[in-house]
Amino acid sequence: MSDATTSCLFCRIVAGEVPADVVRRDDRTVAFRDVTPKAPTHILVVPIEHTENAAATAAADPTLVGALVLAAAEVAAGEGIADSGYRLVLNTGADAGQTVFHTHLHLLGGEPQGWPIG
Ligand code: AMP
Repeated sequence: MSDATTSCLFCRIVAGEVPADVVRRDDRTVAFRDVTPKAPTHILVVPIEHTENAAATAAADPTLVGALVLAAAEVAAGEGIADSGYRLVLNTGADAGQTVFHTHLHLLGGEPQGWPIG
């Protein structure tokens, strides 16, 4: 792991150094349950490769953003919420409330999601 990523919480989860409830893993993405769920199903899908946010991920490898969405869809199906529906969220920066600066796609579902988001 590079210096830039040794202190990154989600890099450490990906590496298995910090425990997490991992529900799916492939060669480019890892999905694990959010430790403070904001919906009955709340799972984070992250790229294994460290980038700070979704735009940085897309700049590094546009196909990786698609891989995150497809992984989330597969997780949603496994959680039984593909038909009822779910929300995918990519928080970027302070005004969006981003607290972890390793790209992560929030998968939220299991009950109606309010709109607009507060
Ligand atoms: P964001 O606010 O978009 O940066 O989302 C970060 C998310 O990471 C929040 O929903 C947190 O609850 C979640 N989180 C923080 N630490 C952990 C952890 N150790 N395991 C799983 N989820 C975490």
